[in-house]
Amino acid sequence: MPRSTVARIDLDALRRNFQTARSRAGGAQVMAVVKADGYGHGIGPVASALDSLAPKFAVACLEEARAIREAGLVKPVVLLQGVHAKADIDECARHGFEPVFHSFQQLAWLEQLEARPVFWLKVNTGMNRLGFHPDELNGVMGRLQTLGVDQGLLGFVTHFACADDPESAMTAQQTSVFERATSAFPGLVKSVANSAAHFRPGQPMFDWSRPGIMLYGGSPMVGTTGRELGLEPVMSLEAPLISTRLVPAGESVGYGASWLADRDTRMGMVAIGYGDGYPRHAGTNTPAAINGQRIRLIGRVSMDMLAVDLTNAPDAKEGDSVELWGRTVGVDEVAACAGTISYELMTGITGRVPRQYR
Ligand SMILES: *Cc1c(COP(=O)(O)O)cnc(C)c1O
Repeated sequence: MPRSTVARIDLDALRRNFQTARSRAGGAQVMAVVKADGYGHGIGPVASALDSLAPKFAVACLEEARAIREAGLVKPVVLLQGVHAKADIDECARHGFEPVFHSFQQLAWLEQLEARPVFWLKVNTGMNRLGFHPDELNGVMGRLQTLGVDQGLLGFVTHFACADDPESAMTAQQTSVFERATSAFPGLVKSVANSAAHFRPGQPMFDWSRPGIMLYGGSPMVGTTGRELGLEPVMSLEAPLISTRLVPAGESVGYGASWLADRDTRMGMVAIGYGDGYPRHAGTNTPAAINGQRIRLIGRVSMDMLAVDLTNAPDAKEGDSVELWGRTVGVDEVAACAGTISYELMTGITGRVPRQYR
């Protein structure tokens, strides 16, 4: 018998979250972002579940685009990080992958090839990670036209630095820089919106939005949970209680003896740890749940197990399933306790944890 540590994936919830994204996309088409193994949910099953709803998929790299083809799906796949070698562009042309080019090196490769894919250009409007500066864009467009390689150009992409912060003025600034930079090319499509932009009143969405985290039920907004935004949890991370004991007042639990019982405490050990991707930074008082009852972690998370306080769940017994996050405990709550974001928790679940699909 394998241990019953598992990530249950609710593909109907995923599809409902996609519909929520569509209803918030203001008429833009919605490409489903399924990079990083579908944010840890499994790229094949996730893309298959969204295939009838999403007109395009988006991933970071070529390997992920291949995984979508290996799942038997034929929709276009946008490569948000472009390509890393000339031969990759050939593969894009053959397989319907749409690279987002962000560098002169990538354009030079494109110009050397006969078969050219449909592609996008990334505009750097202030994130300062990737893309052409608005001042470079006219030159880039002129070069593409002169060399006759502009036929495949579909449109422009930019990415927001602070869309998760409702107070920040930066998203509006980036939007207007983007509009100005691309206004000379009206025949081409535009894409700006990550998940957070779907929750910003008045945000222009242009032609294509690119939600990721919201599809999986995680919150893209600082200080707000996915549930508060009307999103449904997709992943339920569960592990069995493998031992219970009474820790006498004054004794400690786990490595570093970092948690001390201030009274006799019934506690349990759960078969999941940072070797499964559960965050080691989640300390005492991080919530979990058993039989629908909220409980809390105590002491340090180990590689293969963690400890919970069963004071609130007196009937809990060995073999019962503990929810680390899911419908009772939101992943955003756990992320906040671990000093991170739901993105990192979901993508961090390791291959030791089987994914089970509903
Ligand atoms: C990951 C990514 C997205 C999706 O971001 P979320 O915050 O998960 O919605 C959109 N666009 C680009 C360029 C990305 O890299």
